[in-house]
Amino acid sequence: MTNIEPTAKPTASLVSTGEEVLRGEIFDANNHYLANILGEHGFEVQLMMTAGDRHEDLKFVMDTALQRADYLFMSGGLGPTEDDLTTIVAADLAGRELIFDAPSWKAIVALFRKYKLEPGDNNKKQAMLPDGADILANNNGTAPGFSLSFERHGVQKTLVALPGPPRELHPMISAWLTDRAYTAISDDEHLFLHFLGIGESPLAEALEPWTKQWGEVSYRQAFPEMEVKLYQPTLEKRLSLCQFAAKHLGQYLTTYTREDVPNLFTEFMQTTGQTLALAESCTGGLAAKIVTDTAKSSDFFLGGVVSYTNAIKTRMLNVSANDLEQDGPINAATAEQMATGVINHFNSDLALSFTGIAGPDGGSKAIPVGTVWMAKIGSDGCQSKKLSLLQDRDRIRTGAVYQGLRWLMEDWLKERCEKQLAGLKTNNG
Ligand code: ATP
Ligand code: MG
Repeated sequence: MTNIEPTAKPTASLVSTGEEVLRGEIFDANNHYLANILGEHGFEVQLMMTAGDRHEDLKFVMDTALQRADYLFMSGGLGPTEDDLTTIVAADLAGRELIFDAPSWKAIVALFRKYKLEPGDNNKKQAMLPDGADILANNNGTAPGFSLSFERHGVQKTLVALPGPPRELHPMISAWLTDRAYTAISDDEHLFLHFLGIGESPLAEALEPWTKQWGEVSYRQAFPEMEVKLYQPTLEKRLSLCQFAAKHLGQYLTTYTREDVPNLFTEFMQTTGQTLALAESCTGGLAAKIVTDTAKSSDFFLGGVVSYTNAIKTRMLNVSANDLEQDGPINAATAEQMATGVINHFNSDLALSFTGIAGPDGGSKAIPVGTVWMAKIGSDGCQSKKLSLLQDRDRIRTGAVYQGLRWLMEDWLKERCEKQLAGLKTNNG
């Protein structure tokens, strides 16, 4: 954990090429990947762009990208065909000749021979590289990459050309970063806060008094959670945001770390050594799925019942048929009886149940779509709670499950946050 504001970071522009990317036929995974890994290694990504296979477009985009940043990271267009233009344009912009690189040609020939093939004449093009470039070996394909530093209008620039196929690009950029001693900034140097039950706009509004004083935070929606990130904050700034969140957003705050609700839930169950059973109606087994998505779930999850119809609620979970007939299935009594039924069956320490209406049809004025009743049973008896969730079926169901899991570990989460805060205060002297 650092207590020093970071110094100015190297800036980067990203350019991907290829008609198939431009037309949206393939997802631009390369710019996405590069933005992420470069950010983690201390670069400030300024721009990302895509050009097709036309020479003038590629030149325009690469020239613009170079104007705006210290580094230009290119992906694609290093192949042997006519439409692979990256090397030619790079040499042109840097004012360098293309020269034949014998070791690269040797590597290309060796790769072809490995598969009992002979390289064609056009493959020779892949060994023509800008004068003065550092060659980046490609262990997974024919096209070598290169890193070219040059002066542009008196300013030092570096152009890094990487191959299009992700399995070739990933190891090449990692090697480039390692060779140049760029180390990854660990997540511990940043501050992450997770919130549940509040959207981006109300969250930003609630944080405004803090951001006015301390500066912006970044938001990432990881539905149904919101992640807030502070990039390499000082200890004082870190402490201040944690305290502000605890005071003003305590009901939504789940953790001062990057962990999501399912992972926190696993930790909660493991540290408290309890077992769990689930009774699900509108969530249709989603709670069981989410709980078992983490590898350690067998330590604590006994099982569950998906009681979608009233008849099954009665037969499997002992929910009163009379109550169901009189009041329908979406209310506190049904949720509580479902939880009671399942805890009796499974003999678990904890039980959680869901009954509600996920839509899109079937809502009424009294019970609109998004109404979910949950009940939990633990050492302090049986409690129920109504949720009024918004949006579509998928989001209503996921939102309900996350809220339910958070509800079960509410006190534990609060204590965990308090402990983390106390630790920060101690560090702050
Ligand atoms: P090759 O030698 O395979 O021609 P190249 O460096 O010339 O490599 P391209 O021709 O631009 O790269 O792309 C080759 C393949 O790599 C594409 O067909 C696509 O599958 C993948 N690819 C290219 N660009 C991207 C991108 N931005 N995101 C994800 N995949 C990409
Ligand atoms: Mg190509």
